[in-house]
Amino acid sequence: METLITIVIAAIISLFFLRGYLKSLKKRDQKAKEAAEKGKLFSEGPKAQHPKIDTTYCIGCATCTTVCPEGDVLAMIAGKAVIVNGYKCIGHGLCAEACPVGAITMVMASPSMSADMPYLSPEFETSVPNLFIIGELGGLALIKNAVNQGRECLDTIASRLAALGPKRSVPDVYDVLIVGAGPAGITASLRAIEHKLKYITIERDEVGGTVAKYPRQKLVMTSPVEFPLYGKFKKLQLSKENLLAFWDMILNRADFNVSTGEKVEDIKKGEDGVFNVITANNQYRSHAVVLALGRAGEPRKLGVKGEELPKVMYRLLEADHYVNKKILVVGGGDSAVEAAMGLAHQIGNQVTLSYRSEHFSRIKERNSVRLEECVRTGKLKVLMNSSPVEFKEEIVILDVKGERQELPNDFVWIFAGGIPPNDFLKKIGVRFGNKDMTLEASKESKEATAAQKQLVELKSTTGEFAIPRRDDRPKAKLGVTGEDLPKVAHQLTEPEKYQDKNVLIVGGSDTAVEAALTLARSGRNSVTLCYRGHDFQLANPQNRESLDTAEKAGKVRVARACNIALITADSVVLNIGGNHAEIPNDHVFILIGDSSAEFVRTTAIDVTARRASPAPV
Ligand SMILES: Cc1cc2nc3c(=O)[nH]c(=O)nc-3n(C[C@H](O)[C@H](O)[C@H](O)COP(=O)(O)OP(=O)(O)OC[C@H]3O[C@@H](n4cnc5c(N)ncnc54)[C@H](O)[C@@H]3O)c2cc1C
Ligand code: SF4
Repeated sequence: METLITIVIAAIISLFFLRGYLKSLKKRDQKAKEAAEKGKLFSEGPKAQHPKIDTTYCIGCATCTTVCPEGDVLAMIAGKAVIVNGYKCIGHGLCAEACPVGAITMVMASPSMSADMPYLSPEFETSVPNLFIIGELGGLALIKNAVNQGRECLDTIASRLAALGPKRSVPDVYDVLIVGAGPAGITASLRAIEHKLKYITIERDEVGGTVAKYPRQKLVMTSPVEFPLYGKFKKLQLSKENLLAFWDMILNRADFNVSTGEKVEDIKKGEDGVFNVITANNQYRSHAVVLALGRAGEPRKLGVKGEELPKVMYRLLEADHYVNKKILVVGGGDSAVEAAMGLAHQIGNQVTLSYRSEHFSRIKERNSVRLEECVRTGKLKVLMNSSPVEFKEEIVILDVKGERQELPNDFVWIFAGGIPPNDFLKKIGVRFGNKDMTLEASKESKEATAAQKQLVELKSTTGEFAIPRRDDRPKAKLGVTGEDLPKVAHQLTEPEKYQDKNVLIVGGSDTAVEAALTLARSGRNSVTLCYRGHDFQLANPQNRESLDTAEKAGKVRVARACNIALITADSVVLNIGGNHAEIPNDHVFILIGDSSAEFVRTTAIDVTARRASPAPV
């Protein structure tokens, strides 16, 4: 009888939890569907590289939805990962790295968009010889790609110039002219200094590019970036202030030859092969030209009467310069909302935000909450379903739900997005075409692709990845190249010693899980736990639960079906479900017991084994 009662109670408890779980799943699906709907209605889809999910492989673990620094780009619908807010994706690629079954690959934007991308050679050269494109203009977003491409492109140019010989030294001709001083242009300029080239950089605004303009405070780097002359930025999270301070330091270099506030309007190539670069007031001649324009382009105009008045602006840099003014902000994205709130907080301003739709559906949750508060406290007036009809010196005329309204006005800001500089590129002769740049983003990714290819070839010739012979391997060691580096340890003795580090822990037992949790709790470490299985059966339930919580909170990254393939001085290459991912790394702890070591099959390329048996590779 007692047993029966116990079973019934257990069943009731289980049903209770099951109901809660199913309810939460339903809620999650519902939220994802709503987001997908918004994404469909308001997004033009991903702008640059973005994840592609193969639903036949997706096991619905939702790992990818928790690792994205941009929030809800991906969500789960009916147990599968889907892109719900493509326009928010800036191509970090952490989802692809984290997916334990390799269901995600990073691809370029939709075919129609990538057809709109300039065709580039692996050296970043356009269809016009010696005219190069780097950074986001070439279709790949992210600061790290801009920096890597800036470095490599200038290396190519330096070697071509060296081959020019005496023909290169023409008095009024630069070796290279760089257009744009965002991360790509700045890096190219620094590399030009390093190569002792005669160069000039032309920037239409201020030094810093998109990074200097966007409102976010924290920048995320998915791997360390290396600036010429300054070395590696190891931190993966960087405040905008830090980056701007770094730009300032560069700007103050005597050899940083930049002309700001000057826009390049045309580029023509002479019969002598030298480029003539034309701005409003100058003409420059140069052997090579590097376009690092980004894709922000020109601000989109509304075509409204009076838009040419000087009081109508498209960018807000210093909100605190405007006080006691009557202001209209037009737009429905984060930039418009943030500008309106920023201006509304200045003394004496009367700010109206006008948006043509019924709801703000593209803005961040945080902005939505702050906006509501501003409206509630009367700091800001919002006119939905409205659009400007005419701007005059002292008033603006709006159409609000079909009715005309006049507002007294001193300044107008319009945030309607930008038009990428495709027409400019076409005018100067750059050809467009489909090209997947994701594999050729930089030397790093080219090397990773080559390594991946090598592994696949190796696998096909041996029938299996090379496995180090078990007898040769020290106990509890993996036999992976790089395992002898001083940063690799087989026990964690003083966790408090590790602060702000990228740590990899290998193992699935309590020791490994506890080490991961301890390091994640202390010292702002970025911790990845690499485990060859899926469900941590070797760890006790309490540790499993803590790990689950830490993973959901993004404190520990768990790579399942994962083997370590290679350890280098500042990174590790993981094989996650057959896909290789390189992640930045300062310390590795291999915490597998002697017995489990006996069963570890690594996917490392065993160099000695390959040498001993020269399989055709
Ligand atoms: C909201 C937002 C958040 C982001 N967050 C991150 C992040 O956390 N981490 C990350 O790695 N990346 C992030 N990115 C992406 C990153 O900012 C870009 O990929 C990067 O700035 C591209 O660098 P770039 O040098 O190619 O172009 P840009 O930074 O766009 O610089 C181009 C420069 O060229 C100048 N220019 C353009 N046309 C001309 C002309 N005709 N004449 C002269 N000068 C010209 C422009 O004024 C500009 O200064 C984010 C982007 C956005 C929009
Ligand atoms: S991480 Fe991979 S398997 Fe898990 S939900 Fe995302 S795509 Fe699917």
